[in-house]
Amino acid sequence: MILERENSGSILFHLGRCHTYGYDCFLCQAAVCDESSFRDRLILRRSQRILTVLNRFPYNNGHLLVTPRRHIARLDRLTAEEGAELLAEITRMTALLEKHLNANGFNVGLNLGRCAGAGLPGHLHWHIVPRWNGDTNFITTIGSTKAIPQSMEALVDLLGGKE
Ligand SMILES: [Zn+2]
Repeated sequence: MILERENSGSILFHLGRCHTYGYDCFLCQAAVCDESSFRDRLILRRSQRILTVLNRFPYNNGHLLVTPRRHIARLDRLTAEEGAELLAEITRMTALLEKHLNANGFNVGLNLGRCAGAGLPGHLHWHIVPRWNGDTNFITTIGSTKAIPQSMEALVDLLGGKE
């Protein structure tokens, strides 16, 4: 499978590994992996253009990442189709999180560039962080620790593949 790579024309992905620059991108791996590893990789949905995964290091229960399958770092590299599908997926996932986790609100955000806090600056990804009334408690405030009440595997089963 050939996926376009910013500033380098194209890059060959083989067995789910991205070999450019010796840099392994977990989103690129998720973009090409076999469907049998969706649960291990916490992949909720993958279409021709986009991908939705649970964040392995969540700020809150149900914290998701919505991303184009292509390894691109800039908004102006998105096609119109990717942009439309990403917004549709963000809309769809917030509705699912409201329905299945009873979220009261969301932080939806994009960190562009390492200086803006992007943990993976080469591959665009939107964070969806569900919020509940009163979800910042004393443990979060004083201990910089978050209690996550649900396992990742249970969330994949709950949210993956649903309409
Ligand atoms: Zn990537």
